[in-house]
Amino acid sequence: MNANQLKVLWISASIVVAMAIYPPWQYESATTVEERGYSFLFAAPAAHAPEVYRANKVDMRRLFVGIFIVSVIGLVLICSLKKSRCKTVDEHMCPACSMPYELGAKFCHSCGEQLL
Ligand SMILES: [Zn+2]
Repeated sequence: MNANQLKVLWISASIVVAMAIYPPWQYESATTVEERGYSFLFAAPAAHAPEVYRANKVDMRRLFVGIFIVSVIGLVLICSLKKSRCKTVDEHMCPACSMPYELGAKFCHSCGEQLL
């Protein structure tokens, strides 16, 4: 894992933690589920009207969808930041020792095998 990949990992992890600390809330009863906006984990959002029931549950589904999206983006970035080893178009592999050599080389620099 290189420095940029670590950066992406830490940023993604921080976003996930922030999302978990400030999650979406909902009001759930036997008959209804209503969204209630975002608030801190241990402080359900206040009801804006007396006839509106206060949120009583963290909306885990919305929270996990958010975490999932951040994780996927993070993983894609980490994979795309991976340094590809010996993958330039000009490199080929020696048939005898499998070491990469540059196009145009007459002999393998590693085992001395003649290259075509
Ligand atoms: Zn070789």
